[in-house]
Formats: sequence, C-alpha cells, structure tokens
Amino acid sequence: TENIFQAASSGIGQVITRFGADVLIETAGGELLRCTARRKLDNLACGDRVQWEGQAQGNAAVTALLPRQNVLERPDFRGRLRPVAANIDLLIVVTSWQPAPLWEMLDRYLIAANRLHADVLLVMNKADLRSTHATAEAEACLAEYVQMGCDVLHVAADQNQGIADILAAIRGRTAIVVGQSGVGKSSIATQLLPDTDIRVGSISETGEGRHTTTSAMLYRLPTGGALIDSPGVRDFGLIGLDFATLETGFPEFRPFLGECRFHNCSHNHEPGCAIKAAVSAGKIPPRRFARYLSLLATV
Ligand code: GDP
Ligand code: ZN
Repeated sequence: TENIFQAASSGIGQVITRFGADVLIETAGGELLRCTARRKLDNLACGDRVQWEGQAQGNAAVTALLPRQNVLERPDFRGRLRPVAANIDLLIVVTSWQPAPLWEMLDRYLIAANRLHADVLLVMNKADLRSTHATAEAEACLAEYVQMGCDVLHVAADQNQGIADILAAIRGRTAIVVGQSGVGKSSIATQLLPDTDIRVGSISETGEGRHTTTSAMLYRLPTGGALIDSPGVRDFGLIGLDFATLETGFPEFRPFLGECRFHNCSHNHEPGCAIKAAVSAGKIPPRRFARYLSLLATV
C-alpha cells in the first residue's frame, strides 16, 4: 500500500540521514521516507531540503536539491571535500574547565560560524569543576568573550544542569555541537536527545535496519528546532582557515580595520598598523591579539 500511496505523491522534504546512495527524508507531512537520489544528486547532506517524487515501483526518489543556506564540508579519505550537514543556524561550541579551554579553538569556531553565517553559543560544561579548576587566566579569557558579545551558558551535563537552557537556545533553529575532545559533547548530546533510541528504533521499524552508518543524523527536538549530530560533525571547523576569514573571527578589530596604513595589512609586521596601536592603547585585549597572531601563523 505504501508504494501506491507514494506513486501519487511528491513534495518537499528534508534529509534526515544518508544510507550510502539512499537518503532518509522527512516529508513536509512529517513522514519518514527512504529515497533513492538521482545520479547527479550524489552530494546530498543531512539537513538538505529537497524535492521528492513517489515512483510507480520501488523507493521514492529525490529529484532536486533546493538552495542551501550553508553547508559544512569535510575532506573524505581521498581528500575531496564532501558535504556533511546543511542549513545550520547555530554552532554550539562546547568547552569545559577540565580539560581547560583551548581559546584558539573557540576562535576558529567563531571564524567558521562567520563563514557559515551561523550563530554561536558557547557552552562552558562541567560547571561543577569551575570553583576547583578555573584559573584566573581562564576566567579573564571567558569574560573577554562575554564582553565581545558571545552568548555563554554554564552547564553540567553529568548533572543534567543547564540542558533546558541549551534546548531553549536551539528552539526554532538547526544546531550542531562542536568542540575539542573530552569536554562533554557526547554527554550533552545524550541529554539533549533522551529518546534518540526511540527515533532510531522507529527507523528500523520502517525496515531500514539499524542505523550503523557514521553519516550525520538530524534529530527533531520536542522542544522545537533540530540537532544535527555525528562524530564527524562534532570536530568540524578546524580545517580550511584563510586570511580573509581569520579577520572576521575578531569583531573587536572591526572599528580599526580601515585605519591601517596598508589596506591588506595582516597586523603582524606592517608599520602604521591600527590594530597594534589599538592593542597598545588598551582598546583590544592583548590576549586576543596574541591568539590572532598565532592563528595567522597557521594560515
Ligand atoms: P566528548 O569527548 O566531548 O564527547 O566528551 P564526553 O561526553 O565523552 O565526556 C568526557 C568526560 O567528561 C566523561 O568522563 C564525562 O562523564 C565527563 N563529563 C561530562 N559532563 C560533565 C560534567 O558536567 N561534569 C563533570 N565533572 N564531568 C563531566
Ligand atoms: Zn594592521
């Protein structure tokens, strides 16, 4: 009966995950539908919005990819860039008091978010360790990010503390969780998706088998919005930095950028640099400038 229904159907859907050449989509009506993608559509990613059509026989087919708001790409084993997740509104950057925050990594995520035109939420996890593990230096660094307008939540995933605040921040948006290893990303994802198994279970009931691929997966949250998650998504953002995008990660430079003597000033060795002058004048935190220089050395 399902095929008869599909034969008469077509519409818009969103890619929930990939199964090799096939994709699982959620139709506008909220149904899960396994689709074969047309040959030219071999680059579909989790989160993509697509046009689908029922076929007289066999699986429904994805017939078109709708325009992407953005796409997160990673190199595959051959080094070719492959889309992993699309249409992301929010990067939830997780860090913790133990292991200590790698601020340079946060800077890289801020740059990546700028490039995606996505928002950033900084989650300081392991709040229970703050009083014992937060150094004065780390607190000062954090204060600088708050100062520059970064949204910060203090969370203890192990104690289910602050999870509701993350859910509230995701509401109405599609988010990913990223960050260094050991900070609690999977603990947070588990808390955000308490009934993940139900979701994956319902997929296996439709005959898709266990979801064993490492492909990214989109989870609708009962509180609103969605989370796209996979190991490959979680450590995204640490590749492909270039000079033009580097600057965008340092919004506190912006008021001075037009004032450097050279329009293509890298704020490193050039004379007449307005950024260095602003650092000397106490208008840009020296720590932030130092991290800018160390990132600059990597591009
Ligand atoms: P991931 O590598 O970022 O995915 O980190 P995990 O979620 O695997 O967590 C790493 C370790 O931190 C685990 O031993 C967790 O139990 C622990 N952890 C996670 N959240 C908290 C927390 O809020 N407080 C404390 N003290 N430990 C936590
Ligand atoms: Zn300069």
